[in-house]
Amino acid sequence: MKPSLEKLYKFFKLEIDRGLDNHAVMGGLERMLGPWENEARADNLDEDLIQFVVNRIQDYQRLSPSSRAEILEGVWKRIQRSEEIPESLPVNQISDQVVDNASSVPSGEKEAIHDMPVTTTKSDLATNQMEESEVELSSDSALGKKTEQMSKKEVEPAALSAPVTVLTGVGPRLAQNLSRLGIRTLHDLLYYFPRRYDDYTKLKPINRLFYGDEVTVIGTVQSINKRNIRNGRDQIVEAVVSDGTGSLRLTWFNQIWIVKRLHAGAHIVLSGKLEQYLGRLVMNNPEWEPLEQQQLSTNRIVPVYPLTAQITQRWLRRTMNQVVTYWAPRLYDPLPEKIRLSAELMEISTALMQAHFPDSWDSLNAAQQRLAFDEILLLQLGVLRQKYHWQERTAQVFEATQRWMQVQIDRLPFELTNAQKRALEDIQNDLSAGHPMNRLIQGDVGSGKTVIAALAIALVTQHSAQAALMAPTSILAEQHYQQMLKILAGTNFEIKEVQPSEETIPAPPLRVDEIRLMIGATPEVEKEQIRQDLKNGTIKLVVGTHALLEDPVQFSNLQLAIIDEQHRFGVEQRAILRQKGDNPHILVMTATPIPRSLALTVYGDLDLSVIEELPPGRQPVATYALLPRERERVYSLIRSQIEQGRQAFIIYPLIEESEKSEAKAAVDEYDRLQTDCFPELRLGLLHGRMRPDEKDEVMTDFRNGNFDILISTSVIEVGVDVPNATVMLIEGANHFGLAQLHQFRGRVGRGADKSYCILIPDHSDAADNERLQVMTATNDGFVLAEKDLEQRGPGQFLGTRQSGFSELQVANLTDLQLIEKARHYARVIFEEDNELALPEYQLLKEALERAWGGVQGDIS
Ligand code: ADP
Ligand code: MG
Repeated sequence: MKPSLEKLYKFFKLEIDRGLDNHAVMGGLERMLGPWENEARADNLDEDLIQFVVNRIQDYQRLSPSSRAEILEGVWKRIQRSEEIPESLPVNQISDQVVDNASSVPSGEKEAIHDMPVTTTKSDLATNQMEESEVELSSDSALGKKTEQMSKKEVEPAALSAPVTVLTGVGPRLAQNLSRLGIRTLHDLLYYFPRRYDDYTKLKPINRLFYGDEVTVIGTVQSINKRNIRNGRDQIVEAVVSDGTGSLRLTWFNQIWIVKRLHAGAHIVLSGKLEQYLGRLVMNNPEWEPLEQQQLSTNRIVPVYPLTAQITQRWLRRTMNQVVTYWAPRLYDPLPEKIRLSAELMEISTALMQAHFPDSWDSLNAAQQRLAFDEILLLQLGVLRQKYHWQERTAQVFEATQRWMQVQIDRLPFELTNAQKRALEDIQNDLSAGHPMNRLIQGDVGSGKTVIAALAIALVTQHSAQAALMAPTSILAEQHYQQMLKILAGTNFEIKEVQPSEETIPAPPLRVDEIRLMIGATPEVEKEQIRQDLKNGTIKLVVGTHALLEDPVQFSNLQLAIIDEQHRFGVEQRAILRQKGDNPHILVMTATPIPRSLALTVYGDLDLSVIEELPPGRQPVATYALLPRERERVYSLIRSQIEQGRQAFIIYPLIEESEKSEAKAAVDEYDRLQTDCFPELRLGLLHGRMRPDEKDEVMTDFRNGNFDILISTSVIEVGVDVPNATVMLIEGANHFGLAQLHQFRGRVGRGADKSYCILIPDHSDAADNERLQVMTATNDGFVLAEKDLEQRGPGQFLGTRQSGFSELQVANLTDLQLIEKARHYARVIFEEDNELALPEYQLLKEALERAWGGVQGDIS
């Protein structure tokens, strides 16, 4: 089993053993996600699988024990399947454990495993050895002899790329273990930050201690001994310390090495939390250090690092302290002083020292600001460089007279909104600039992006060039195709034939046969015909799915590539489509309201047009969050809406982990609803296990009114247009993010009738309900997106990770002020010297290469 999976398995098992109390990891299972993600990636675990695990576990803390069991079991099953691992989680014990969770077991025996699963004697041994080797290491003062001789001036920044084995006490085996944390060089180590800090700055005499205190105590060991518990499978070390005001009992669980290191009479510093056992105050697994030694784990703000097996917190702190103390002051600051001062930032040396061993919370905060600034600055510089390289190229100029464009606009059955006009103007400016357009149109569902895209297509194809429009699913591609026929070729949606053009209306810009649809299900013969016609230029616009990216697809003159729902595609796909033309103009559309801060940071290489206004006359969708027991009320609403000729969606979440059981859940519900609730109605069923053509058929049937209710899993999510649907019931709504719920809601309210969105969580957890209340409070996708960003972090907005750039470690993409500041200085630097060729930018340039993994300008 890969190390990261082994670790996950251990944590899960431990969590089950503990009765799902979310204490297997100090501070909660979700705390391990950040570091685990890195390890999993180092193990080359499939990115989808990693994201899956992260998404499932991140709300773990809020779940009831039975939901927790379900989540752990489900996650592990999925891992078993994709990694072909035979070991199952011992889930059959779960129910016993949940009952068994009463406090009958002495707390010492149930103590949370301290930062890493030291469950077996084998790893005990390892811990033991590590602690022994620490003696040797800490006897070396600063760094170790190998680097000691370098003086401050002599240190080259390049020396930081030396492997960790230059450190005394770090041999190949430890280096191997460190590499699991992504630490290979001294630089990696310096930039390996704590995941949290314990505040042990409060120092108290023993007779002033209270239950629950997190404190530091200085005392003398009175007695210390070990004993076996649970038939000798586990061992505890017990000690008593006193400080003249009183005495305190300490217990360490499975850290038997302590007996050898600590003797009666020793003066020690202890930090930890005061607990109670049999009515007396005790400390379980306190941190401790000899009084005469520099205190790194006690009596201060103590860094807590993400760990891996075979690396202990104590060892890493000590090593880190040596490295930081020696190296940080010797570092040159990559940020020129004038910028650093103007941005009011701490020096890098100080920032690194304070980030690892803070003197105060204030200085920690300042250090984090500095480090986060650097990260975002580098991200921005990279993005600007990409944009710059792209814009340096020339592209064909497409211009239209105002009169011509007005004629096209007049052909539409409605007036453009002001926001649409602005977006169109942006696009026209881009198309006539002589450089490739690279623009993102962002607009809520139904804001009219597609219409604007159609007008851009009209313009480009008027100049005998070709355009491609790519959508993430067949259903969407089909829908776009119909809409394009309607707008560009003047066909009617249902009849699909050219309307006899009236005198006053000029001929549409394209003929029906110049627009083609190419999806996976398109018969091979037809595909071949399309390929030929694309190559010889008879087709002016091709609408399609990934099928467009296939190798044999060639264009005679592709000048405009439009991608819908960017977050579903990777940068690579954008690049492939782009390569099908010669510097074509690129337009990306998304209905996922990405928070502005995130859009600018991550899609910074794209120019942004926001359609923030909905066409007039749209009614907001009336949204209600209900409890599971109120479900019958919703069914009544559905019945009455259907009596009035409307249709309804019912969505089920992915509770079961596999697509198979997800489908099963939907199938079961479908059967139940059809027999028990709506025997008189026509129900359709849609789920991810169906073939694309089956899905399309169901969708088309629903759109044509052959079903009253569509039961679906989340596959329905993107852009499907059924104006007659007025009710969206979302079951298990607590399993979805706000942005996703908003997408579902956007499936209704697309016609003239009042529409409803009902959210039902699968248990009556108040916290979930509170979160869903946000949905009821606003119909504004951007507001929800900001909330979602706050609650769930940026991960979900980024379908595919942006190229090359290493993960942000310190920066929080919700910190708008900081992002703005870093963006500002990135522009200042870039405008002064876009190649970073000036000597003062040399170190910054090196940092940039490091952060972008050597990726040069044009990667997309
Ligand atoms: P999006 O792609 O942003 O979800 P669409 O372009 O598909 O939105 O537009 C949604 C619906 O609104 C379509 O039926 C479209 O014809 C209609 N529409 C677009 N712009 C306007 C407008 N300015 N006024 C009225 N209806 C509009
Ligand atoms: Mg759309």
